[in-house]
Amino acid sequence: MFVTRFAPSPNGLLHLGHAFSVLTAFDAARAAGGRFVLRIEDIDGPRSQRELEDAIYEDLAWLGVEWETPVRRQSEHLADYAAVLDRLDARGLLYPCFCTRSEIENALTAPHGPEGAIYPGTCREASADARAAQLAAGRPFARRLDLSAALAAAGPLAFVESGARIAVDGARLAAEIGDVVLARKDVPASYHVAVVHDDALQGVTHVIRGADLAFATPLHGLLQRLLDLPTPEYRHHRLMTDAAGKRFAKRDGAATLRALRAAGVTPEAIRARIGLA
Ligand code: GLU
Repeated sequence: MFVTRFAPSPNGLLHLGHAFSVLTAFDAARAAGGRFVLRIEDIDGPRSQRELEDAIYEDLAWLGVEWETPVRRQSEHLADYAAVLDRLDARGLLYPCFCTRSEIENALTAPHGPEGAIYPGTCREASADARAAQLAAGRPFARRLDLSAALAAAGPLAFVESGARIAVDGARLAAEIGDVVLARKDVPASYHVAVVHDDALQGVTHVIRGADLAFATPLHGLLQRLLDLPTPEYRHHRLMTDAAGKRFAKRDGAATLRALRAAGVTPEAIRARIGLA
């Protein structure tokens, strides 16, 4: 059975870009006679707000999207993600990172990737004694993936993107993402861990999402292999742009579904405007 999902983070109002994403996924589920799942990715701390989550439900219902209930809210499942991290840790694939943001910026040896700084590996190289001392001192730490160890443990990897088989290029992953944070200092989870866990738990067969997340798919394929999870098929759709060719972003108030609805725009007109009539 075809199962796809829309997984917004409630840290802003939905805009035309989200409408394109959710309707692309919802229409695909309908066309395949499959299921459509909505998931709230609310683990990125104070930016995720309950009112914004309610606004998501309201805007999606207005658009004509129907989803299964109960909706999974990631903030209610942190123990699941902690268990995933423990499994990776038990295989020696994580290490604690005590670096502050400014220490990382100062030590940078590579340009930033789509996720931010490519971590120079300082804490990966730390001696066992140094690590124990930091832990004993109670210094807060994030947990990073030891990417080269993870790639070696996983072996050759590939995933399916829009019907084509794509081999994962480890060197490219190292250059674009590197030793990524899988558990933040303040939240014992990360988007990458939660998304991989939840897609498998919810039986997602097709991940349909924006091209802005395509960089993360090889990492997700890697985590799926390490955790013995199935790898869904991926489709990264084009990103909606405004009249000036700029991507819609949370700051563009005029493109929010709220503002358009208040201005009398109908859901049918939204579909027409994003080319999904
Ligand atoms: N929560 C992510 C976002 O709002 C999307 C995750 C995904 O589709 O994989 O950007």
